[in-house]
Amino acid sequence: MSKDTTDPRNWQLATRLVRGGTARSENGETSEAIFMTSGFCYDSAEAAEARFKNELPGFVYSRYENPTVAMFEQRMALLEGAEAARGTASGMAAINAALTCQLRAGDEIVSSRAVFGSIAYIINELLPRFGVKSTMVDGTDLAQWEAAITPRTRVVFLESPANPTLEIVDIAAVARLAHRHGARLIIDNVFATPVLQRPLELGADIVVYSATKHIDGQGRSLGGVVLGSKAFIEDELAPFLKHTGPALSPFNAWVLLKGLETLELRVARHVENAARLADAIAGHPGLAAPADGKPALLYPGRADHPQHALAMRQMAGGSNMVAFRPKGGKAGAFRVLNALNIIDISNNLGDAKSLVTHPATTTHQRLTPDERARLGIGDDLLRLSVGLEDARDLIADLSQALEKA
Ligand SMILES: *Cc1c(COP(=O)(O)O)cnc(C)c1O
Repeated sequence: MSKDTTDPRNWQLATRLVRGGTARSENGETSEAIFMTSGFCYDSAEAAEARFKNELPGFVYSRYENPTVAMFEQRMALLEGAEAARGTASGMAAINAALTCQLRAGDEIVSSRAVFGSIAYIINELLPRFGVKSTMVDGTDLAQWEAAITPRTRVVFLESPANPTLEIVDIAAVARLAHRHGARLIIDNVFATPVLQRPLELGADIVVYSATKHIDGQGRSLGGVVLGSKAFIEDELAPFLKHTGPALSPFNAWVLLKGLETLELRVARHVENAARLADAIAGHPGLAAPADGKPALLYPGRADHPQHALAMRQMAGGSNMVAFRPKGGKAGAFRVLNALNIIDISNNLGDAKSLVTHPATTTHQRLTPDERARLGIGDDLLRLSVGLEDARDLIADLSQALEKA
């Protein structure tokens, strides 16, 4: 029997990305419409009453739901293989909502230490104000996870590959430890992208994205998304979003919908470029000596990444992120940044344009030197998000800059 092509869950990834969630208006537009409206009208007073009581389907107010945003959410849910999804104004709004909607005083959260800076603020500073106890562990050490997760742990949080050191955490193993105590595992899957890593299939319960990154992919808009079971999204997350208001704008949802159409193609080229660049630069005389048993250039797709085998087990490619240490410490790293002609100095990532940043003085400058050292963020570390330019130009640009380290 041939497949039922009316059910989008039977479609392959590329088809889901181009067509998933599309809901055409009576005009039959080819491209998804942008519904720039804050509110919606009702045919009668009775209809308004029924919609507010959830007895009639339909939109009520764009802080709750909007047709363009709903298309983005459905396409994301199909892509991720999740039962449901909700869009938010930024990645941080998604992460804050995913945590805050389910944590209460007396609960505990366990997180890997290597998380995005603003996430560390929420976990270490904000949540404890409301009586949530937080513990951070070295994400690569399963014994630390095992010791930290207790029956009081409600949420376990991690990012893999981690920013900016590209450490890999064993998602399936941490999911088993979390579930043993009835805790839920949330994965920040930004660095891997939904194309390369499928956390729900590895045992995670909830996945969050900054859609600002590869999902837009062209540096145009902020956005975020939370994905999980229908029960979690509708009963726990949706009321929190509805009443606290970090809503995704319909225009930005449309930009993200258009981004999704080309996501698989772009990620494939991102990964191809990153792999070529990493191979061309590894061993460059402008790189520092190996330290702590790690090479001066780290790329999860290369065999010399300390966790290469684990990375290849849970990811379908090495990502587009490369971390490397030029020789000459911070001054050497700055000389390399300032010598680049094509690659831009910027803290964003997942963009069509290649972007490089010095985490110790930008994204991670809030941390103390000790905390940075513990995370492996030296003063010489650079983090490169490889874009969609011709790899030969990127290799030439970085090679000439490394000569000036
Ligand atoms: C950028 C980023 C975020 C935050 O997303 P915004 O859209 O900037 O709010 C969270 N996690 C990771 C891993 C990121 O790279």
